[in-house]
Amino acid sequence: MMSTAIFLGAGAAKVEGAPLQNELVKMCARSFQQLGRCPNVAGYLKDFFGIHCLQDDLEKTTFPTFEEVIGLIDLAELRGETLRWPLVEGFNADNSIHTLRLVRDELIFMMSWFIDYYSQEEASGSYECLLSTLNSRTLLDRNRVIFLTSNYDLLLEKALSKVYASKKINYGVDFARVEGEKLWRPTLNAGLKFYKIHGSLDWLYCTTCNNILLKYVPISSSLDYTNSLICTDCLSIREPVIVPPTYYKSMSNVFLGSVWNNAENALRRVTRVVFCGYSLPDADMHIKYLMKRAQTNRASPVFSVVVFNHYSGKDERVAEEEEVRYKRFFGDKVVDYTRKSFEEFVADPLPYLT
Ligand SMILES: [Zn+2]
Repeated sequence: MMSTAIFLGAGAAKVEGAPLQNELVKMCARSFQQLGRCPNVAGYLKDFFGIHCLQDDLEKTTFPTFEEVIGLIDLAELRGETLRWPLVEGFNADNSIHTLRLVRDELIFMMSWFIDYYSQEEASGSYECLLSTLNSRTLLDRNRVIFLTSNYDLLLEKALSKVYASKKINYGVDFARVEGEKLWRPTLNAGLKFYKIHGSLDWLYCTTCNNILLKYVPISSSLDYTNSLICTDCLSIREPVIVPPTYYKSMSNVFLGSVWNNAENALRRVTRVVFCGYSLPDADMHIKYLMKRAQTNRASPVFSVVVFNHYSGKDERVAEEEEVRYKRFFGDKVVDYTRKSFEEFVADPLPYLT
């Protein structure tokens, strides 16, 4: 059976990418200056980057990128090392590890808040439109279309509740618990296949119980953030299942491993992948790895790629380089690099499906 995978990149959500990378650390600083939130990030910025959130003019300050801030913490943890807090007396290594994790939690909380805030602004209209069309041709019921994304937002879930409330979602992961009320429930059998390979704003992982919870609402939606993370079974602090966009992506989480394996198995059976709002950046080697495995290890030789990543005013040189990236990786004959946008695909998706 012919089927198509639709890959939703940052450009299909318009809420991640450049603005997030550039603004997030500044937002944390401003949030501390005005509301006293993110105290650990503020301390980290002071001690490691010389930024005084209470005294400095934040508009004139040059901030480190999100990648730099979280990358230092990720690498220290990966290497089993700690960072010395230069200005704090009596600070020992245990404190340092603990505080670094708090900094990381605050950054991820702010990222969740930011993505959720902007994805509410950004109406999920495109997703609704796409799902309506697919649903009207019963393509969702027959599993002729599956979805993959590197985004964490809940845009597709929101659209699905409007278009097709009874449809279940198969995330490729077994949730031990589901909190809250929604018409749809996750499933591992039938259902719309939707693989969120970097996690989701509403997934929480308990490292003590070794299970995963689906909250239906973003982790940042509770004002009492820390309390909302506590596992009701063992009282440990649950961790968000969000892999930040760093170069040191840890795919070691067992639940993300399950998503990954299910995604790979599903991709091996599709005859086409439609990339939306995704530029196939050099840094995303793990996504290329997933795609190449699916392209080469398959029963059916048919595998084609269609790309929708255009927008008005896009630099021609950027588009050309992108086309070359896609063609050199998947093969000249396989790739149809349209000069069309995600919105254009959504308006008329059927000709591009197999
Ligand atoms: Zn627990």
